[in-house]
Amino acid sequence: QKPVPSDIVISRSCVPKPIDRLATEVGLLSDEVELYGKTKAKVCRWKIITPTPLGEGKSTTTIGLVQALGAHMKLNVFACVRQPSQGPTFGIKGGAAGGGYSQVIPMEEFNLHLTGDIHAITAANNLVAAAIDARMFHEATQTDKALYNRLVPLSGGQRTFSPIQITRLKRLGIQKTDPTTLTEEEITRFARLDMDPDSITWHRVLDTNDRFLRKITIGQSPTEKGHTREAQFSITVASEIMAVLALTSSLKDMRQRLAKMVVATSRSGQPITTEDLGVSGALTVLMRDAIKPNLMQTLEGTPVFVHAGPFANIAHGNSSILADKIALKLVGPEGFVVTEAGFGADIGMEKFFNIKCRYSGLRPHVVVLVATVRALKMHGGGPTVTAGMALPKEYVEENLELLEKGCSNMRKQVENARHFGVPVVVAVNAFKTDTESELDLICTLAKEVGAFDAVRCSHWAEGGAGAVALGQAVQRASEAPSDFKFLYDVELPIADKIRIIAQKIYGADDIELLPDAQHKVELFFVYMLCIEPICLTHLSLSHEADKKGVPTGFILPIRDIRASVGAGFLYPLVGTMPTIPGLPTRPCFYDIDLDPETEQVNGLF
Ligand code: ADP
Repeated sequence: QKPVPSDIVISRSCVPKPIDRLATEVGLLSDEVELYGKTKAKVCRWKIITPTPLGEGKSTTTIGLVQALGAHMKLNVFACVRQPSQGPTFGIKGGAAGGGYSQVIPMEEFNLHLTGDIHAITAANNLVAAAIDARMFHEATQTDKALYNRLVPLSGGQRTFSPIQITRLKRLGIQKTDPTTLTEEEITRFARLDMDPDSITWHRVLDTNDRFLRKITIGQSPTEKGHTREAQFSITVASEIMAVLALTSSLKDMRQRLAKMVVATSRSGQPITTEDLGVSGALTVLMRDAIKPNLMQTLEGTPVFVHAGPFANIAHGNSSILADKIALKLVGPEGFVVTEAGFGADIGMEKFFNIKCRYSGLRPHVVVLVATVRALKMHGGGPTVTAGMALPKEYVEENLELLEKGCSNMRKQVENARHFGVPVVVAVNAFKTDTESELDLICTLAKEVGAFDAVRCSHWAEGGAGAVALGQAVQRASEAPSDFKFLYDVELPIADKIRIIAQKIYGADDIELLPDAQHKVELFFVYMLCIEPICLTHLSLSHEADKKGVPTGFILPIRDIRASVGAGFLYPLVGTMPTIPGLPTRPCFYDIDLDPETEQVNGLF
């Protein structure tokens, strides 16, 4: 067999068809498409297994599968994938366009700025952060009357409330629209948000793995008159605005979600929103283009939507609802939309069903669970490896015993998928060091534990042709009866919802709410924030990342619970979740450069 060249060599060897031609092929009208150069376009049509550091090839399999369904089986098909953060691209993981002969192209465009959606989120997020600190500063340095006069300035001899200010008045229970009729007490309540600096949950963001921004002190210039405070940065994809983008259904809905985001509480404990800060309209303006999914293509010319990429640590880690919905319309009733749920099945799939499907109202027909020999061996007790290190012999030589032990993790993931009533097809993503017996063993065991089917695939080495068996299995499974159901009733008490996920999906005995989490449960009850799905993230079927396989007999400690009110979920914190990664000693950027002659990007993979 010919060796498979590097991802970038393969990506470049294929000339993408003009994106306007692809747009016509998939049935888009010219006024629904905005071209961004020759290989990307934005589309607006809303008018109408636990991961291991080795990577299982989920993105690669998503792309391989749509290449098989579209280019080989001649079905209408769309892939919907997340836009990668630049943090990992320049840090540890590298790109996320798939790999080998199953990729989204051009990978430079895909992995870098794309059409600027992530930059738009950075701008919008940081406008909120600037608004918070500026507002606290002005409130600290001005009288109530002076604040009010500046917030509602005289124009042509008259004061007028803006529409956002009228909404704020209503929230305060003041049913007045004429600024001259406010009492002194109402003026104070209106003008002062009285934010408690210790309650601020809104972080500044940057799409770079800059760990030194995990804790900073802001306001140190003399112009800020001593108003310093400790603050922190997160990576842009961890911004609530990214989660809003992924879960929204229209511009109007996005406007409403962007207004509801809670950034802090007042000293008396009232939630303070982006609408209270007066910034929600401006956020919608900044996000106006980001809401349109980006059209690209695979190596075999099948269409792909790249849209949104929320961080799986504190958000739901899935691509956008809008992209899925537009793709479903375009492929028609007989077509297939393959949408990728990031992270392991225990996290990505659980959140896909319980959060994304709840908001989208969409019901998937099939779950494709990607498994690899080496990742399962790691679950079976194989040595830990980190990205970039040479693989120990356990992973490159046949070891059926280790593999069989590790298949317990696959069994749990298949069971988990079946909790939702959807048939599961296990895709065994073959690596060249895997042996026939190893690949067969996974397929046999997968079927024994209840998978609808299990097939090995070689789409990384062979493109869509290597995933035709997978495509056929998916097609058969999509015709099988399915009985989709959520794991929990969203109206249950918060602790019960968390317990159900912990027990049914992770296999925990119970959960323990630590004092901060208990306090939040009570607080959210008061502010009626409990009727939201839960976005729980943990590490490897328990709270300890080094526990592989299927850990049992543990109590999951819930340290705190936060509310992403705009996005629409509560996220319990298990242990410490870094929200901005760091760079390794030898980051990917060492290899990335621009060739001045050809203007090509080198070193991405
Ligand atoms: P995930 O989505 O699970 O994180 P990716 O699809 O991004 O994983 O793949 C991670 C890396 O592994 C990519 O560089 C890809 O080229 C490589 N890869 C995926 N499948 C195979 C395979 N069968 N053989 C060799 N390399 C593979």
